[in-house]
Amino acid sequence: MVTTSFKTTKSEEIFAAAQKLMPGGVSSPVRAFKSVGGQPIVFDRVKGAYIWDVDDNQYIDYVGTWGPAICGHAHPEVIEALHKALEKGTSFGAPSYLENVLAEMVIDAVPSIEMVRFVNSGTEACMAVLRLMRAFTGRDKIIKFEGCYHGHADMFLVKAGSGVATLGLPDSPGVPKSATQNTLTAPFNDLEAVKALFEENPDQIAGVILEPVVGNAGFIPPDGGFLEGLRVLTKENGALLIFDEVMTGFRIAYGGAQEKFGITPDLTTLGKIIGGGLPVGAYGGRRDIMSMVAPSGPMYQAGTLSGNPLAMTAGIKTLELLQKSGTYEYLDRITKKLADGLLQIAKEKGHAVCGGNISGMFGLFFTSGPVHNYEDAKKSDLAKFSRFHRGMLERGIYLAPSQFEAGFTSVAHTEEDIDRTLQAAAEVISSL
Ligand SMILES: *Cc1c(COP(=O)(O)O)cnc(C)c1O
Repeated sequence: MVTTSFKTTKSEEIFAAAQKLMPGGVSSPVRAFKSVGGQPIVFDRVKGAYIWDVDDNQYIDYVGTWGPAICGHAHPEVIEALHKALEKGTSFGAPSYLENVLAEMVIDAVPSIEMVRFVNSGTEACMAVLRLMRAFTGRDKIIKFEGCYHGHADMFLVKAGSGVATLGLPDSPGVPKSATQNTLTAPFNDLEAVKALFEENPDQIAGVILEPVVGNAGFIPPDGGFLEGLRVLTKENGALLIFDEVMTGFRIAYGGAQEKFGITPDLTTLGKIIGGGLPVGAYGGRRDIMSMVAPSGPMYQAGTLSGNPLAMTAGIKTLELLQKSGTYEYLDRITKKLADGLLQIAKEKGHAVCGGNISGMFGLFFTSGPVHNYEDAKKSDLAKFSRFHRGMLERGIYLAPSQFEAGFTSVAHTEEDIDRTLQAAAEVISSL
């Protein structure tokens, strides 16, 4: 039941014009639908679990602006708080009480965070935390994992996930060798590889950074013992453990992966949800380490718009909404229903698939799996995923336009939305 009304005339017009104005027609690469092919959809408005495009097609949205829309898009309470904040102005470039409020909420929620610094994006948070781990340990090398994405700073563009994986770019031109020579990489879920790197580089590794649950190579959860093992290895070697919870923070549990798995890193990066849909990032951790950050200490890091009152307001209201009891149980219930349903339908139709969910974060790979790391994820049938993606789009279901991105639900998604999605999936999967 492809809605006969499905047309994309205006999207096509606007995107054609955009391609002359901006590289690839977009402000961020994955939005261009390159890996799934076909026409990207140009949005007009968002509300709750839904988005509408410029041709007035309505979709159930499982991207949620890549995670922040966990309460549903344009939640009335967030919008109302923003209206009030707007009356007081858009930027102070000076301290505001709102920063205290959000800082306190973040410190209360995230086990590793005793002090926090706000920035404007996840990329910025990861850049700063890299400088901080080097400043604190006096060491230059870091370990990251293949397929993990920590923003687009030079030092992290080595076997990175998200758009880099989606577009099949090895590393980016313009990144000098000198910028990545201290970036060591290991396969996710491979403790032995990490151990070997520590042995080959004694007293040289500042820290290990990872997505505790990978979302930027598709959805890949940690094997039992992996996070624990990293905690032990970093301690033994005088290195820091950094959880990049830009995606998982306030997503898989209120206190993020560190609460969910009971492993406390030394430093944590945040973003996405804590901005409630406005541009925010943050990094935080142990007080002795954070005390090195300027002006308290010598490690320089700054930002004209950091701690922006509108962004703080949206973040505060979003976290308040998430504190309602049952939030994460609800997200887990509907998302499990979706992930299990998709797997079951695909298996019944004879397709090799695997996947799952943790709370409101999910993924489905077109490979029999199991997927423990990025190499496994790359075995997915990308052509099949593209056809699946397009079929769902035509039936009003908006999924991330890449096999290598996790999906997200929100508390605004209803059981009915999930049923409708599974119904569409049954049709599309039958025709793959
Ligand atoms: C999205 C993301 C980033 C980058 O955040 P931006 O706000 O896009 O710069 C970094 N790390 C992880 C784990 C992410 O998911």
